[in-house]
Amino acid sequence: MAAVEISNIRKSYGDVLALSGINISIPSGSFFTLLGPSGCGKTTLLRTIAGFHQQDSGGISVEDQAIEHMPAHKRDVGMVFQDYAVFPHISVYDNIAFGLKQRKIAKSEIAARVGKILDVVQLTPYAARMPHELSGGQQQRVGLARALVINPKVLLMDEPLSNLDAKLRVDLRREIRSIQQSMNMTTVYVTHDQEEALAMSDIVCVMFGGIIQQAAAPWEVYNNPSNRFVASFVGANNFLGLSLSGAGASIAGLAVNLPQAAALTAGGTVVAAIRPEFISINPGSIAPDMVTLKARIRQVSFTGRELTVAAVLPSGEEIEAITAPSEGVLALHTDDEVTLAFPASKVQLFADGVTGAR
Ligand code: ATP
Repeated sequence: MAAVEISNIRKSYGDVLALSGINISIPSGSFFTLLGPSGCGKTTLLRTIAGFHQQDSGGISVEDQAIEHMPAHKRDVGMVFQDYAVFPHISVYDNIAFGLKQRKIAKSEIAARVGKILDVVQLTPYAARMPHELSGGQQQRVGLARALVINPKVLLMDEPLSNLDAKLRVDLRREIRSIQQSMNMTTVYVTHDQEEALAMSDIVCVMFGGIIQQAAAPWEVYNNPSNRFVASFVGANNFLGLSLSGAGASIAGLAVNLPQAAALTAGGTVVAAIRPEFISINPGSIAPDMVTLKARIRQVSFTGRELTVAAVLPSGEEIEAITAPSEGVLALHTDDEVTLAFPASKVQLFADGVTGAR
């Protein structure tokens, strides 16, 4: 069952069209992430679901109830903000109890519900503390507890981890995901961090220019991007010009055997995309279905688990390979000539242009 249905939502700020007819169906209990670069409209969409912004047109329903004209406080959604938004002058306990007091819930029930949520977010020992006595990560857990304690139908989270340092971000994203799964809480999460989106979500919804580019499982979005924007925004990718002529396809002036290019006609501009992790450097043997290119190394960088090799093709185009740090590759230096090889089947072709179609 869909917990949230968004139909044809449009929203402008003056001349700026922030949401251009958004249609989404969010399954009950799923972790649904809106991912995209700054300005793509993800915060506007989240705040429209929350009721902080009014859409120009379109509908939003939660568990089959239309909410698009309801005031925010009646929508039965919990919201977690980037800047924590905890009240500075009251304790952790009172921060979490606040929404329940507003709803005139009995004191004994408030105590039971706050106690339970403190336990879920692992803040029980901190109940009496004031917010300034907490770390950033702990304050954000108060923010999460405040949203969860009202038992909302949908949890909305707007870049909740972006004010935290890298290590804490990874820890807390695991915690948020396991709390969400244990409570089976339908969650809409906003981030511009693609790794965070892939790691946490059931569905990643990639946005650009107020338009949904693709909404699918993380592996699907990574492995089967629907257009060039998704292929470039999610994970690293190399984009190389593909020339088509009567003689066949070529990359950087070298003929390549790409069966997927056979149906294309000469003349159009096509971009070939290959992920860096599919590229081998100076392989011992080359299978017939491999594409090979000569390149000159520009830089080798070692990051512990992997090695990134940046190289330049004869056409001047840059290409990057990511590989396990083997002895042969560790011995490479700037200006060395190398052979790069990758399976033809891993090459994806896109029309030129930012959102060029697959
Ligand atoms: P970020 O990650 O930077 O928050 P975003 O993807 O969440 O970006 P939005 O904040 O939703 O993007 O903005 C979408 C578009 O609407 C942008 O072009 C932005 O400049 C514009 N916009 C957002 N809020 C307003 C506003 N209050 N008045 C005018 N334009 C706005």
